[in-house]
Amino acid sequence: MDENILMIYKYGDDVLKLKAEEVKHIDEDIIKLLDKMTATMYSTNNGIGLAAPQVGKSLQMSVIDLTMGAKAEERIVLINPEIIESDGVETGEEGCLSLPGISAQVKRKTRLLLQYFDLAGKEHQREFQGFMARAIQHEIDHLQGVLIIDRVSSLRRQMVKKEIKRLKRDGKWN
Ligand SMILES: [Zn+2]
Repeated sequence: MDENILMIYKYGDDVLKLKAEEVKHIDEDIIKLLDKMTATMYSTNNGIGLAAPQVGKSLQMSVIDLTMGAKAEERIVLINPEIIESDGVETGEEGCLSLPGISAQVKRKTRLLLQYFDLAGKEHQREFQGFMARAIQHEIDHLQGVLIIDRVSSLRRQMVKKEIKRLKRDGKWN
């Protein structure tokens, strides 16, 4: 087993419900963790984003690559991200590595002004739109202890919980 590939925590694990702590110093441990998160994300077949709580570390950082490694230069690392402004609303389908086999229709803002730090410790303020804005909101939710299952109606949530039970029973919850 590749030591760079971390275990992905799933719905039901407590770490996913915590509000993650701010990253105070970007040291070697943080850089190593980010490298492993990136390798872990790329090791999945369908992951376009991974937040530190999903590998059991309650820290405000996340990596996103909508191209799944095809254009790794488009990968973005978000440390202590904060939405400064947002507007527009759109509902769209999302999945999550912590909810394998599940998808949900989630309402998100269509445009964001985001403040965040990169791995070099440089502060950015940048605008994002469309699917990237959606992915960022999904990741920021993880840093707040929120999952897509928390963003659907209670009726749909009951259905998703049943779906999860079935997936577990059939050995497909991984
Ligand atoms: Zn997720």
